[in-house]
Amino acid sequence: MIKSADVVIIGGGISGVAIAYNLAKKGVRNVAVIEKGYLASGSTGRCGAGIRQQWGTEMNCRIAKFACELFENANEELEYEGDIEFKQGGYLMISSTEKEHEQFKKNVELQNSLGIPSRLLSLEEAKEIVPFLNTDGLVSATFCQKDGHLNPFHTTDAFARAAERLGVKIYKFTEVTSIITENNRIKGVRTTKGDISTNVIVNAAGGYSQQIGKMVGIDLPIYSERHQILVTEAIDQVLEPMVMSFSLNLYCQQVPHGGLLMGRGDEGEPRDLRITSGWHFLEEMTKTITNVLPPLKNARMIRQWAGLYNITPDRQPILGPVDEVEGFYLAVGFSGHGFMFGPATGVLIAECILGEDTTLPIDMLHLNRFKKGELIFEPSVV
Ligand code: FAD
Repeated sequence: MIKSADVVIIGGGISGVAIAYNLAKKGVRNVAVIEKGYLASGSTGRCGAGIRQQWGTEMNCRIAKFACELFENANEELEYEGDIEFKQGGYLMISSTEKEHEQFKKNVELQNSLGIPSRLLSLEEAKEIVPFLNTDGLVSATFCQKDGHLNPFHTTDAFARAAERLGVKIYKFTEVTSIITENNRIKGVRTTKGDISTNVIVNAAGGYSQQIGKMVGIDLPIYSERHQILVTEAIDQVLEPMVMSFSLNLYCQQVPHGGLLMGRGDEGEPRDLRITSGWHFLEEMTKTITNVLPPLKNARMIRQWAGLYNITPDRQPILGPVDEVEGFYLAVGFSGHGFMFGPATGVLIAECILGEDTTLPIDMLHLNRFKKGELIFEPSVV
């Protein structure tokens, strides 16, 4: 293991490897990524990997649009030998209350003003996109063809390999056990495989970001919560877009190999680090999805699993430096949408560490927004 690094990144999920790649691309090559498991073993490898630009806040629309453009070119940019499998089959968002319909109208107006080609649809138009959609109880829908999904393992691998080619060192199965500080300045990390001295650390530890914050005496306003997901056996193509509902609390997509991947948030989940699977999710998931997409009642489930959402009070990430500890940066609290932000997170945090003007303004995502009471609530989350 190297003895010193310009930057140490804790976490080998999409955020960590994308930050490492962007630092190296900008010439900071003495970078170490420390991952306690294998790459993408955290939420990244457990997620739905849906990519949408249909958000209800300007900031999220802008970040998601920027990230989507980066995903579109990722195979070439990262010179990836494989394929990140970015399929832009669109996202069909369905509304089932008048209130939600009103929000959708505002969302589409906002999205269009920012160059996102989403549309408000009648239920008849929605059925043209998903013919077997059960529209009973629904009010309207929105659709953006440029949204989609991709393969989270390949994408993480693509960033990691590109970073390594530029000199980044990635240490897998290596856990950060403490952070060394002196006079509120970062001095190094202690890991299960040795110490690395450094003046800059990025906390990109996903569901475990709270624990990493505590290593420097910071109590991050974040909690983690289990979210569950399942996949069916592969069947013939029935679903082109991702179907999503906030009020029914579900999403479903068909991945390239033919399996239907679907998830929802269970009510009343404890705020802890459990990633076990439960019956309640299974019952609720199958009940709600077969109501919305009836032919799926014939699909057989083959696997269910869970991962952690790392949630902030306003459901927005915390990005940027921490005032109290010099050299400590955060890329945490993605609240269920950190995968789709990944490539943008990589660019923005690298720029931030280098003291450059960031491609998009991220000041409002600083940790101090909670102290100042300047929260930015996102209405469109599952
Ligand atoms: P992670 O992928 O969690 O990576 C953090 C890494 O840090 C982990 O690999 C962990 O092992 C490592 N680590 C932690 N502590 C230490 C330590 N002490 N030492 C060393 N390493 C450590 N997002 C979307 O954009 N679209 C979706 O459709 C979507 N669906 C989701 C579905 C589910 C069921 C879940 C659970 C999440 C979903 N998300 C989705 C959210 C998304 O998965 C996360 O926001 C994103 O993956 C966060 O990436 P990350 O790299 O920041 O964190």
